[in-house]
Amino acid sequence: MVINCPYCGPRSSQEFRYRGDATRQRPDTTVATAEEVADHLYLRDNPCGEHREHWFHAMGCRSWLVVVRDTLTHAIASVAPARTAAVADSRAETVA
Ligand SMILES: [Zn+2]
Repeated sequence: MVINCPYCGPRSSQEFRYRGDATRQRPDTTVATAEEVADHLYLRDNPCGEHREHWFHAMGCRSWLVVVRDTLTHAIASVAPARTAAVADSRAETVA
């Protein structure tokens, strides 16, 4: 699999480290139950199809990226710096 790093260009996925689901939101621990916190910490989905993921370019620019990847075919729809994706997400939440 090749990931097109926005800073380094196309690179083998072996240069990257997978961190996990980029859609997970940490629960507000002041109001969340212990079960909700445990679910957040220990339970993971196993999605089939397009999925937003965090990847770290460990052997390159050492940037965190948000990769939209089809977990079935490994086709990558988009790659963006995590910082840019986070700003876009916060703007989307403000508008919604
Ligand atoms: Zn890079």
